[in-house]
Amino acid sequence: MRILLAGIPGSGKTTLAKKISSEKGFCLVKTGEILRDLASQNTELAKQLKEEMSKGDLVSDNLVANIVKEKVTELDCGICLILDGYPRTKEQLEIFDPEFEKVFYLKISDEVAVRRLLNRHREDDTPEIIKRRLDVQRKELHPLLEYFKDRGILVEIDAEKEVDHVYKQIRGYLHNEPQS
Ligand code: AMP
Repeated sequence: MRILLAGIPGSGKTTLAKKISSEKGFCLVKTGEILRDLASQNTELAKQLKEEMSKGDLVSDNLVANIVKEKVTELDCGICLILDGYPRTKEQLEIFDPEFEKVFYLKISDEVAVRRLLNRHREDDTPEIIKRRLDVQRKELHPLLEYFKDRGILVEIDAEKEVDHVYKQIRGYLHNEPQS
């Protein structure tokens, strides 16, 4: 099963992706982490990435799509795959489509997102960059969610709840258990 966890920054994508992949033995591709690793190297690409990421902008669709495609191919984990943070635009999906079976939209308000992000102390989590990331990503997320909804694979989850509660809900969907 190929799963996408979609949501704005602070919605819990990475935390939940880690939990699901470790319980179910799924391969996990963390796009943001791959990009941060690339940005920390001493290359021309790193300079470009650092600049875009430090402003809160998204990295070029072509670049991200190809990096993720390569990673997915290299991992060779067939259908047991979970993606954290890819795709973030419709254009990325057009370049590389992982063919998801389920997409979980982790829905939270901007207020909750800001509160959570300010608590985790990452370099790109300053109030100005957070605002920019939320604005950019909300705008891109909408058409993606519409697309997945039309395909009947979108599941909307109230991700303002405690992480364990959210996790149980997702697990229920993966095991086809009825949701309360
Ligand atoms: P994250 O760790 O998911 O919050 O991602 C951190 C940063 O990496 C984002 O603010 C973007 O600059 C970049 N990024 C991560 N995933 C993508 C993606 N799919 N497309 C473009 N940029 C991305």
